[in-house]
Amino acid sequence: MKILVLNTGSSSVKYRVFECNGDTAEDLAQGLIERVGSKKADIKCACCLEHENGCAAQMIGTPGELDIPDHKAAINAICRILLDERCGIIQDLSEIAAIGHRVVHGGEDFSESTLITDDVISAIERCCKLAPLHNPPALQGIRACAEVFKNVPQIAVFDTAFHATLPPKAFRFPLPDSLYSEHGVRKYGFHGTSHRFVSAEAIKLLNKPVSDTRVITCHLGNGSSISAVKGGKCIETSMGLTPLGGVMMGTRPGDLDPYLPLFMIKELGMSVDDVDKTLNKQSGFLGVCGFNDVRDIEKRASEGDAKCQLALDMFAYRISAFVGSYAMIMGGCDAIVFTAGIGENNALMRKRILSNAGYLGCHLDEERNMRNETIITTDQSTCKAFVIRTNEELLIARDAAKVVQELAKSHTVPA
Ligand code: ADP
Repeated sequence: MKILVLNTGSSSVKYRVFECNGDTAEDLAQGLIERVGSKKADIKCACCLEHENGCAAQMIGTPGELDIPDHKAAINAICRILLDERCGIIQDLSEIAAIGHRVVHGGEDFSESTLITDDVISAIERCCKLAPLHNPPALQGIRACAEVFKNVPQIAVFDTAFHATLPPKAFRFPLPDSLYSEHGVRKYGFHGTSHRFVSAEAIKLLNKPVSDTRVITCHLGNGSSISAVKGGKCIETSMGLTPLGGVMMGTRPGDLDPYLPLFMIKELGMSVDDVDKTLNKQSGFLGVCGFNDVRDIEKRASEGDAKCQLALDMFAYRISAFVGSYAMIMGGCDAIVFTAGIGENNALMRKRILSNAGYLGCHLDEERNMRNETIITTDQSTCKAFVIRTNEELLIARDAAKVVQELAKSHTVPA
């Protein structure tokens, strides 16, 4: 069955189409529409790049000058590309068996991927206050698909769901009880689909009973988070109520002294909006050294830029501190997984992070690491380090296919 996967942001829509059959999934098409809501929208359609007679996306208009006023127009444009004979993905919209949506925040209501109903939409709406930048555009994508695809089942796959197994001692903050019981203030965690995907791949590589496995997953991209996965279940994760907490990131600081925002307001006279901007957009790598793309920062550090070197050292130091504490709460660690832009590609950063990991039985094999191999530790290491390419869209497609199959079964009346 063909599954359309959508990741809808405030001004972008990423799409991917998979043919899912049982456990196998074939990648059929993918692309991205940027600057949705403007007359200067751009379409990149990867599936068309190989076509000799031009890209199907070009029939929509000139890339970079497209009039895509809203998310519905974006979804319509994606449909036109998929229907175009040069792409040959589908001949009719009814061939799409389900649409899987990435939804960042599902609050406490969802521990697994879910068929989208009116009640589910209301629950996603309630979580908008916890993810104001992410949940509203996901809802726009869901509503646009309902108009364009009519009765095609839509499935929400939540970034928070994999962290639903955190025990209360991990997800509660030591704050007055009413903040939790009346206002839902707790750790939720994010990047769950990525942590779930790479931890499952790592468990396959470990080749031992799932219940005996202790895996630490490091999703290191522009946003970064670390999770502890024991027996296949997430028991701890670094991001908190919002994706601001945990480790240092591209423009976010991660964990801080909680008095700090108050200090900025009371002592430095900053407004609440200034503090918000500082913490979300001006901190992390950008705040420390003035750049947030780690490739640029590595290059400058190698040329002797001390601020860039400090930023890289701070990032590695803070991540290694999380890895150490997560090994402690699991009573050891069988594998440390690196994924996302930095984790998958930056061998120097992995080396910095693992520089003191020998006590865990984790010894880097420098050559394997430089080659970005899947296993980057020595054969003797009792704790392995893996580089695993994350594939959140594939997991979303598989989940959507599973929900649709279960739906079909529940509609089949036994003879
Ligand atoms: P996002 O959180 O936006 O999805 P990514 O997972 O794409 O972020 O990660 C972005 C970070 O990964 C950037 O700091 C970038 O420097 C780094 N990165 C991406 N590709 C590479 C690469 N080939 N080599 C080194 N670093 C990379």
